[in-house]
Amino acid sequence: MSVIAENFDVIQQKIKRAERMAGREEGAVKLVAVSKTQPAAVLHAAVECGHRLFGENKVQEAYKHWGSLKAAHPDIRLHMIGPLQTNKIKEAVALFDCIETVDREKLALALSKEMHKQGRDLPCFVQVNTGEEDQKAGVSPEQLPSLLQYCRDVCGLNIIGLMCIPPMDEAPALHFALLKKLAQENGLKELSMGMSADFEKAILLGATYVRVGTALFGIRG
Ligand SMILES: *Cc1c(COP(=O)(O)O)cnc(C)c1O
Repeated sequence: MSVIAENFDVIQQKIKRAERMAGREEGAVKLVAVSKTQPAAVLHAAVECGHRLFGENKVQEAYKHWGSLKAAHPDIRLHMIGPLQTNKIKEAVALFDCIETVDREKLALALSKEMHKQGRDLPCFVQVNTGEEDQKAGVSPEQLPSLLQYCRDVCGLNIIGLMCIPPMDEAPALHFALLKKLAQENGLKELSMGMSADFEKAILLGATYVRVGTALFGIRG
């Protein structure tokens, strides 16, 4: 077995164990393998061992990584997990299968127009800046209800859940719990939270998608 295949095996086992501990159904949590900055050989190895759900944080790099691999494997699904500029929206809508980082009205409207144009109705998450950090993307918890209403009523976007990246220097559990509460209050089912260091904790607190890079692929170059 390749190192990558072994890593996938270990992480999937940990996910299963956390699902059981949380009293969740097996398969309730999906693993988004974060492939940003990894070399092509690593991506090929991941696809080779059967994984099909990946996350990227830059549009250009995602094309380089996945343009041809996705054509060869049409069942590959790509999540956009990084900040999205409106001038990259056309390419993003064409390549990605889910946008996890909707965080402002202008972006929501531009996404909805582009999806309409391309005939692609991508599921989306709204990213919440749970730590209310100045430099971080995401809508503040207070502004979330009005952004959700705008996404639904004005844009007709298919918002399926919420996503967060907790502050580096704080216990992530508080942020995971807050995201879960916000999702419940707003009638949303999916929660994208938890990375290499804390995905098991996130599963215990209700994550339905975890985004794991380093623990699968090693330190990024
Ligand atoms: C890079 C990245 C991850 C993966 O982080 P690891 O600590 O390597 O697992 C998850 N989510 C987002 C938004 C990222 O940019």
